[in-house]
Formats: sequence, C-alpha cells, structure tokens
Amino acid sequence: MDEIIKAISGDGFVSASVISSRGIAERARNVHGASPVVTAALGRVLTAASIIGSTLKKHGASLTVRINGGGPAGTIIVVSDDVGNVRGFVQNPSAEAPNTAPGKLNVGGVVGKDGMLSVVKDFGEKEPYTGASELVSGEIAEDFAAYFAKSEQIPSACAFGVLVDRDRSVLAAGGYIIQPLPGAAEGIIDAIENNVAATGAATEVLKRGGAEALLESIMAGFEPRILERSAVEYRCTCSRERFLSAVMSLDKGELEDMREKGEPIEVCCQFCEAVYVFGIDELG
Ligand code: ZN
Repeated sequence: MDEIIKAISGDGFVSASVISSRGIAERARNVHGASPVVTAALGRVLTAASIIGSTLKKHGASLTVRINGGGPAGTIIVVSDDVGNVRGFVQNPSAEAPNTAPGKLNVGGVVGKDGMLSVVKDFGEKEPYTGASELVSGEIAEDFAAYFAKSEQIPSACAFGVLVDRDRSVLAAGGYIIQPLPGAAEGIIDAIENNVAATGAATEVLKRGGAEALLESIMAGFEPRILERSAVEYRCTCSRERFLSAVMSLDKGELEDMREKGEPIEVCCQFCEAVYVFGIDELG
C-alpha cells in the first residue's frame, strides 16, 4: 500500500515527508501503457505532486503540476488532491530516449529541459496560486528543487525515484522532501546533505524497508517524531455527470453537428481511460 509519512526532528527544526508510491506509478503505467522511461518520468512527477498536494491542508483543494520540456514524451500533467491521491496524463506514453548510462533510464532525455515546471494550487476560493520555474535537467527532482528555491524560497532537498523491473512493471517508487524550518542553525544544512548522500537512491531503501526505512535514513540523527501517516493512491475523480456537462458546454455549432449525425458520443478520460457514452437524447 502506498503511503506518505510526515515527521519532524526532535528539536523541531527539520521537517521531512516521505512517500512510497509503487502502486501509483504501476497504475499509471497500466492506464497509459507507458514505456519504461515514461513510466519513470510520469511516476516521478506523480510522486512529487502527491507529497506537495498532501501539504495543501484544506479539504477540497487541489494541486496541478504541468511540465513541458520539449522532449519526446511531450506535456506531463499531474493533479493531486489535498491528501496526496493523484492522477496523471502524458502526451506520448510510448516515447523512448536512449539510455545515457547502462541500465539507467534517461528521464531527462524523454522529458527534455527546454521549458517550464508550473504548479497551480487551487483552494477553491479567489484566484488559484500559481508558481513556475525553468526546468533544470528534466530529471524531475532537480527541477522541483529549483521550483522550491524560486517560488517558495525554501531550501529543500528532494528525491523522487521509480525503479522499473525487467518485465516493465514498477519494482519500487517513492521519494522524500526534507527541509530546515525557520530558526534552524546553519550547520543543519550540512547535516541534511550528509543524510541525503548516505541515503543514496531512495528506491533502493524503499525496496528494502518501505517508507519507514526511508524516513529513518533521511532523518538519521534528527530523532524524528512521526506526525502523520496517510494512505494514498492513484485516483481519478471523473464521472458521467462531469463529462456530460463538459460535452454540454461545447459550442452550439458543435452540439448541433452531433445531433445531426445522430450517433452516440464517446468520451474517454485522459487520466484513467474510462469511456463514457452519451446518447443524442441526453444532449438536451
Ligand atoms: Zn478518469
């Protein structure tokens, strides 16, 4: 089961969120029929969005991440709710990029780095909050670190990883965000960096001991206290009613054409591949 664990150091100056997201990444792979490298790219964005979404702290709020780096995968869009349940879409799920190192999926190559990472936080009131930063490498974690530094002005260390097995299924996925809190001593950044280096690949730790092991490793020496654990999953919010109202909001000319053709209208959800069919009589 996928979960997010939030913790704070014993002295209250370091916070960390860790996530195990194997199920989320595997479901995304199945929904979209994604190639291994796109599974890794989309899985990393889903993992990041889930952790960030879980910090929204308002019921009904949502977070949308959009990445377009000009690579063969095309645009990636991921939406999270306020708990961290996520859904995602990628323009070209079967895209490939040659490996740069043996056995290492070239996520930066398939995403591209000529473009932006944008984040929209919608709290259901007034204007949504929007932030954006230029992509650094298309490898996702570095791009989010740059986003945090620019838009939220918080120095954060983060890692988001997806380990794809030989049969193309997801073997492990997840990551973390760790950051000093206001008032922390300067040396704390070095201590965090040491933990990041000692932890190594997040997916290897997750494979061995799940989210709890990852938390222990990244918060080593900080005496972490767990504040919250929540189950998260790949979850779409589409419904027949929503799609019908979307169809009804098409322009009058298009609706008229559909009525004249007299054929049922088929709509497919781009996040979960659910198909909804509407009869002409339902178009009012
Ligand atoms: Zn759906």
